[in-house]
Amino acid sequence: MLPFLQYADNRDLRKELYMGYVNRGNNNNEYDNKEIAKKLVNLRIERAKLFGYNNYAEYVLEKNMAKTPEKAFELLNKLWKAALPNAKKEVKEMQKIINKEGGKFKLASWDWWYYADKVKKAKYNLDEEELKPYFEINNVRDGAFALANKLYGIKFIPRNDIAKFNPENQVFELQEADGSHIGIFYLDYHPRASKRGGAWMSSFRKQSGFGTDKEVTPIIMNICNFTKPVGDTPALLTPDEVETLFHEFGHALHGFLSKCKYNYLSGTSVSRDFVELPSQVMENWCFEPEMLAIYAKHYQTGEVIPAELVKKIQNAGKFNQGFATVEYLAASMLDMKYHTLTEPLTEDVMTFEKNYLEGLGLIPEIYSRYRSTYFNHIFAGGYSAGYYAYIWAGVLDSDAFQAFKETSLFDKQTAKLFRDNVLSRGGTEDPMELYKRFRGAEPNEDALLIKRGLK
Ligand SMILES: [Zn+2]
Repeated sequence: MLPFLQYADNRDLRKELYMGYVNRGNNNNEYDNKEIAKKLVNLRIERAKLFGYNNYAEYVLEKNMAKTPEKAFELLNKLWKAALPNAKKEVKEMQKIINKEGGKFKLASWDWWYYADKVKKAKYNLDEEELKPYFEINNVRDGAFALANKLYGIKFIPRNDIAKFNPENQVFELQEADGSHIGIFYLDYHPRASKRGGAWMSSFRKQSGFGTDKEVTPIIMNICNFTKPVGDTPALLTPDEVETLFHEFGHALHGFLSKCKYNYLSGTSVSRDFVELPSQVMENWCFEPEMLAIYAKHYQTGEVIPAELVKKIQNAGKFNQGFATVEYLAASMLDMKYHTLTEPLTEDVMTFEKNYLEGLGLIPEIYSRYRSTYFNHIFAGGYSAGYYAYIWAGVLDSDAFQAFKETSLFDKQTAKLFRDNVLSRGGTEDPMELYKRFRGAEPNEDALLIKRGLK
């Protein structure tokens, strides 16, 4: 759908496709989900009350870093206020293009991707093909390793003597600066016929037994589906893939640097709104000029990526962020709104959705990223009263990275605080307490807003 909305010149067809998409499960036929969604909402209220909570969100959030629906809402509201004016600016920018091209219509929701693409080409002019030669996969991997070395003193030693689960694996031993053993790292970077899509961190064995005489060291893997080498050309990554490599490596470090007694609480066994901090924070480094100078070298000439390309990558991060943030927040707030109801819903879910989002000031050019009749995350998946976790983690990682910006990008003291209070503690303590011990304060959303160009 998205490539079509982005490239199809035929406006009527764009409308037909997009309207079909946003009305899934909402056509008053045998596939209509309105009654089912309403029933789910109401049953959840009942369940929460049986457990002694006022609403379902209270029941879910008690175990999360946010703790209360009010705390989650407080953040969502702040971000909403910052993002909405930017989305409106983006509408104006696109309307200018429509007018200039002689279109006699007002930008509609089904036009967004098409005109945003024109803004992107005119304003940002970023060609991924131009970047890829600087992101040869082994260089990027070594960049991630170099970062862990600079921050934590960790060494990565290739171990060709250890059994692999597939011949394509690369195996490394992680050691502390003093040479002591941390764990074994399997990398499995490329797609195969038998492999699931996506990228993730997993473990054969988690760390446990810290402080006992039976300490177990971790055996961890990063599984990805990165671009494969073709002929004589090595695997060259897109900027998205570079971010993914650093992201999954961050999850791996969370597992490796764990110092917990119990397996159940070690490594990445933390609440949903905290688990993406160690991974997402690593993404902040990968396109910083100081970091690029270390690993982003042209695979043929060895030349470091030129400064003007770096600037382009950084600018592109601000493209269309009003839209992306508002579209996402609308869905998060809708999720939270349903799950903070204390009395059963009587109206139909689409009426509820419309009234709530219009009340927030959502503009007609944008729909919630997921609407009530196809909001899989909250009605079929495990994200009920939890869809906010993505941006919550975004605030955490941006604010955490700010600690390095305030000192230096590879500041060892800041890294030690992060390691001691976040990476090593697993789920053994309240995540907000851990974060405050690292940062000296609760997370602040400014860094995220600046990164997205919203402030
Ligand atoms: Zn992740």
